[in-house]
Amino acid sequence: MSKRKSLHNKEVFHRINFLHQASSLMANKNQKLSSFYGNILNQVQKKAVVKIDPTIKRDMCKRCSTFLTPQTAEVIPENDTSVLIECKQCGFKKRYLINDYYKLWCEKDSAILETIEVSTP
Ligand SMILES: [Zn+2]
Repeated sequence: MSKRKSLHNKEVFHRINFLHQASSLMANKNQKLSSFYGNILNQVQKKAVVKIDPTIKRDMCKRCSTFLTPQTAEVIPENDTSVLIECKQCGFKKRYLINDYYKLWCEKDSAILETIEVSTP
């Protein structure tokens, strides 16, 4: 008898993935729709109390949730250690530090406790 572990909130992660893809597709065509999908993504994430990957968070504007692409955001290099990303829709600015040695917690090997295979229907 095999014990298969199930992924909790599987439907929520599928919906978040769909909304992220929809937001990225609409980013260069309709920024309001991209922002709408991003807002729904944030609401779904907050209601289910799940963490989303930091790369997905960094793809979206923190204020208006628009998917950030070279057409929707401006990258301004400040100095050798930081870069400024400005959203063209709402004007929100976010500063990111440039450090080759810095790793997010989820990127470290110690953060992976176990891997779960998810079968597709
Ligand atoms: Zn914005």
